[in-house]
Amino acid sequence: MSPKLVVIGNGMAAGRVLEHLTDDAPEAYQITVFGAEPRVNYNRILLSPVLSGEKTFDEIVTHDDAWYAARSIDLLKGKEIVAIDRAAKTVQAKDGSVTPYDKLLVATGSLPFIVPVPGKDLPGVVAYRDLDDVNTMLAAAQHGGSAVVVGGGLLGLEAAAGLKMRGMDVTVLHLMPTLMERQLDPAAGHLLKKAMEARGIRVITKANTHAIVGDGKVEAVRLDDGTEIPADIVVMAVGIRPNSGLAKAAGLEVGRGLKVDDHMVTSDPDVLAVGECAEHRGQCYGLVAPLFEMAKVVAAQLNGDTSAAYTGSVTSTKLKVTGVDLFSAGDFAEGEDREEIVLRDAARGIYKRLVLQDDRIIGAVMYGETADGGWFLDLLRKATCIADMRDTLIFGQGYVGGAALDPMAAVAALPDEAEICGCNGVCKGKITSTITAKGLTTLDGVRAHTKASASCGSCTGLVEQLMSLTLGDQFNRAAVQPMCACTELGHDDVRRLIIAKDLKTIPAVMQELEWKTSCGCAKCRPALNYYLLAAWPGEYVDDNQSRFINERVHANIQKDGTYSVVPRMWGGITNPRELRAIADVADKFAIPTVKVTGGQRIDLLGVKKQDLPAVWADLNAAGMVSGHAYGKALRTVKTCVGTDWCRFGTQDSTGLGIRIEKFMWGSWTPAKVKMAVSGCPRNCAEATCKDVGVICVDSGYDIHFAGAAGLDIKGTEVLTHVDTEDEALAVIVALTQLYREQARYLERIYKWTKRVGIESIRAAVVDDLERRQALFDRFVYSQKFAQVDPWAERVAGAEAHEFRPMAHFEPREAAE
Ligand SMILES: Cc1cc2nc3c(=O)[nH]c(=O)nc-3n(C[C@H](O)[C@H](O)[C@H](O)COP(=O)(O)OP(=O)(O)OC[C@H]3O[C@@H](n4cnc5c(N)ncnc54)[C@H](O)[C@@H]3O)c2cc1C
Ligand code: SF4
Ligand code: SF4
Repeated sequence: MSPKLVVIGNGMAAGRVLEHLTDDAPEAYQITVFGAEPRVNYNRILLSPVLSGEKTFDEIVTHDDAWYAARSIDLLKGKEIVAIDRAAKTVQAKDGSVTPYDKLLVATGSLPFIVPVPGKDLPGVVAYRDLDDVNTMLAAAQHGGSAVVVGGGLLGLEAAAGLKMRGMDVTVLHLMPTLMERQLDPAAGHLLKKAMEARGIRVITKANTHAIVGDGKVEAVRLDDGTEIPADIVVMAVGIRPNSGLAKAAGLEVGRGLKVDDHMVTSDPDVLAVGECAEHRGQCYGLVAPLFEMAKVVAAQLNGDTSAAYTGSVTSTKLKVTGVDLFSAGDFAEGEDREEIVLRDAARGIYKRLVLQDDRIIGAVMYGETADGGWFLDLLRKATCIADMRDTLIFGQGYVGGAALDPMAAVAALPDEAEICGCNGVCKGKITSTITAKGLTTLDGVRAHTKASASCGSCTGLVEQLMSLTLGDQFNRAAVQPMCACTELGHDDVRRLIIAKDLKTIPAVMQELEWKTSCGCAKCRPALNYYLLAAWPGEYVDDNQSRFINERVHANIQKDGTYSVVPRMWGGITNPRELRAIADVADKFAIPTVKVTGGQRIDLLGVKKQDLPAVWADLNAAGMVSGHAYGKALRTVKTCVGTDWCRFGTQDSTGLGIRIEKFMWGSWTPAKVKMAVSGCPRNCAEATCKDVGVICVDSGYDIHFAGAAGLDIKGTEVLTHVDTEDEALAVIVALTQLYREQARYLERIYKWTKRVGIESIRAAVVDDLERRQALFDRFVYSQKFAQVDPWAERVAGAEAHEFRPMAHFEPREAAE
């Protein structure tokens, strides 16, 4: 009699083991298979095409009843094993029946993770794991209605696409900022989101599910921010965990999964494990490729070949949503010892990125064109040295050994009727013939005569290449200083294109403007974060990680690693209550230095990072908010005592300073902004070396701007004279808004003024009243979202991870 093999679980891994085992040695075992599902073995990964209607269940069956019968395998469908008795070498099914074994194979797969929120057990909440789940979804989809999928990973997106194809109104909720973040980087995640949205699927990222609501059945999903999304069905697709409880109860060694050695044997020599339930060298897998490799080893092992060993797998991911091509493999996190090669083609929605270490591929992400995925995976698995093919590597296997692509040759090869400017429908022939006919030598000339590159401007590079081809040395490309090494574009083009192309996230900017790196650098990220904040107030969510350390922690780092804290003192005015609170804070937190700054504020120096939230809490309690002494923002409005106290005062300079500061605080600007108001031309508040200064005179207010008193020293320019305080505020606000909209990141007002010219600024905020009002209104609108005390937010728990003790080495900036 051959020995008895009992298999628990009849999923993909078990199915593959049985194939190998019965092919190699049909008589070796008497096999009994227990499957909790009431059906034969099927290809689980094709459940999504069944859901979407692209396949039927019969088409995804791998082994039908006849297959088991032909191999004399006793398949017990719908029979769940509830206990293993290793001493007696038996298994017990839920119906009480006991079956003996000589060898036992555990292949119980995974269990879907259900987010533990209120309402998770309501009828209508379903996981996505087996055919029953698909049938529940299909039943719900029969009536149309709304579906919410919690989880924007592989399973969630496949479920969403399937339900959409079945006619449901689908929303995907994803906790992280980009979709499939474990397999894709933000750029590819952005393209994927766009593709899902193009299918009519709503995607909400950074969405934290708070509760599932409904009376007797699912009715809606409530997010942390209170938003409720109607739902007739909720699909939970947030992850899986190895189904190893049965093994654990039997006393087998279990970590995250059931632990196996390289021969797939558990801590009991007669018990083997395979598939997602197994943990091998600390790793559990959730894709089929590794399971199939494991299955070969298990079959060999059961057939007595102890030399077969499983040593782990490098996995790759594809998404089975028709029309979405993505591929990812390996490790694509950034790292100092890593390099990357990035290729983006915004027009075709293509993004490819290879991560290299020591001239070897260690990670690959591709979107839009994935034909070379298998080749990259092979190079990765074999750790092939790619030094010799590096120049053409990213273009794929077809280019190996060829020369690097010459972009000029590609443009030269375009036919005359090839469209260059999509916005204005201008083709290559029109551009080259106009250049020659009109003797054009500048980009502006071509724009004026052909309209090419005159709208969104994304074809500017192509137009310039055509000019080079047509004019040769005669063409002098306007010297644009690129923002950084990640792009050819200068700050102004990036700002313009953010608006023209409606770009609302950093990954969107990087993909659509064809960034040369995957995630940008320390120069472009903070700039993009500011440009997006300025362009889309209320819509763009500030990316804290794109800010410098001082802005991340809302305090100024000092040379010993401690911080300085400067509470806001409106117009430089304080009172005994505030001073007492400051003194108490200094005592309580043993703050070594308390100093008066040049901007009429009090600076608490030497605060430990981990004490910051508590220090702010105490200052908040006394009514003080952040002074933004660390920020590219309005810092201080210095004032003199004016008519309140001074014999020479002509106007209420203190009142105006406080009014300006209360109106404008919190607003992010390209660089720091310092202001001052002096009550008479004696100018005790030093207003004539500030970014914006007001000198009060008997007849009203002289408004100055573009001064500097730092690395550069420069007296202000006079912008205009106004009669009233209201008008002074209106001009200052409009000026600041114009600066916010036009200046390059880190460009102070005096530098911006020098670049654009005083006259253009005066025309916008003094002469053109309508434009002044529009600028004013846009500033006021953006303040609705900006005037939030960042200290209070952090006291309430925001960004808590920042305030755990840790060393930081980043540029420092003085507080004032
Ligand atoms: C919708 C979907 C799409 C997927 N797409 C892909 C893809 O594109 N690419 C990819 O690589 N992977 C994909 N996967 C993952 C892939 O299906 C799994 O990695 C694979 O099925 C795991 O095989 P397994 O045998 O370990 O577990 P399973 O296939 O889950 O089989 C385990 C079986 O054991 C049964 N069982 C559990 N406990 C008991 C018990 N006590 N008694 C009896 N029976 C029991 C379960 O009912 C189940 O039938 C997808 C998964 C799903 C759900
Ligand atoms: S600037 Fe003029 S009003 Fe103000 S304190 Fe000095 S002298 Fe007085
Ligand atoms: S930056 Fe220079 S001037 Fe400013 S506080 Fe530091 S040392 Fe002093």
